[in-house]
Amino acid sequence: MSELETDMQQRLKFVLSQINDACKRRSKEFEGVIPRLVAVSKKRDSSDIIQAYQAGQRHFGENYVKELETKARDERILEKCKEIKWHFIGHLQGNKVKELLHIPYLYMIETVHSQQLAEKLNNSWDTGDDRKLRIFIQVNTSGEKEKSGCSPDEIINLMKFIKDKCPKLQVDGLMTIGSAEHSKESQNPDFVKLIECKKEVCREFGIPEKDFELSMGMSADYVQAIEMGSTNVRVGSAIFGERSK
Ligand SMILES: *Cc1c(COP(=O)(O)O)cnc(C)c1O
Repeated sequence: MSELETDMQQRLKFVLSQINDACKRRSKEFEGVIPRLVAVSKKRDSSDIIQAYQAGQRHFGENYVKELETKARDERILEKCKEIKWHFIGHLQGNKVKELLHIPYLYMIETVHSQQLAEKLNNSWDTGDDRKLRIFIQVNTSGEKEKSGCSPDEIINLMKFIKDKCPKLQVDGLMTIGSAEHSKESQNPDFVKLIECKKEVCREFGIPEKDFELSMGMSADYVQAIEMGSTNVRVGSAIFGERSK
């Protein structure tokens, strides 16, 4: 990394320090859990990604398969970001699954919301070894129509289906997009809901709570999300600046 930091690299550093401080305010049960920062790079170009990478950032999130593919195959990124880890965080359509699974350095898919999609991913995941595809189940905790995700009362069935029928998938946790109107409250009810869902899943399947992740928190609310136990925050504009529409 060069001596001179760019504004963006400074913002990245600031976000990391906020995360670090928030960790200190969590309850004892989260001791030792280091949350992962996913830098959401949608609508940013490859040079921004490279800059963040050079400042130490490794996990990046994208919403659109085409856009992710273009960046992941960009020769500069392939050459300079050899340890990059891509998270797919957008709404995934069945007809884009094959394309998505062929993307280099794909780390995980955070937005699995149905049996049909899980089955398709399972059938299309073929690495030649027994490496599983990491996924989160996306939950629509706010009930807003325009948001995707399964409803909270469908999670257990979806988990059962994946356990029984999708041996190539590994469910690492639950993901939600909290409704923006609650982002200034200290306890976003969508995060509270996701935590309840996690507890239920862990109870039902005998998973230790420390081994099951929560992906919640974006630029407006990543600090409170971490205080509440998020293990994966997806932060875009606080790192890269406001996005153009
Ligand atoms: C865009 C996006 C983010 C990041 O949003 P910011 O407010 O810019 O931090 C996080 N998660 C998902 C699913 C997104 O689509």
